Order: sequence, then structure tokens, then C-alpha cells
Amino acid sequence: MKARCPECDAEVKIPDDVIIGEIVSCPDCGQELEIVEITNGSVKVKVAEVEGEDWGE
Ligand SMILES: [Zn+2]
Repeated sequence: MKARCPECDAEVKIPDDVIIGEIVSCPDCGQELEIVEITNGSVKVKVAEVEGEDWGE
């Protein structure tokens, strides 16, 4: 299966046995992506929120 990285628009390979909530990382930009939806071989992801980290904004 495949998803599209929301950060850099690269194609990300997703294992067939992936489950919702799983985190994959984009091979291009390294962004961590959370699986939010799986429909008929098409996978929707969003940028994973990093919890417990303060980026000092
Ligand atoms: Zn990316």
C-alpha cells in the first residue's frame, strides 16, 4: 500500500498489515506519519504529533 507524505509529497510505502494509529516515517524527509485511515489499499496519513517534547516556541 502507499500513502502520500503531507510534508514533502513523496510516496511512502506502507506495509499491508498496517493498523490505524501506527507510525511510519517518510523515506524522503524523515517526517513521522500516523496512519489515520485505510480504505481499499489507499492509506491516509497525517503528521504525527510528538508528545512530551517542548520545542521552545
Ligand atoms: Zn516526506
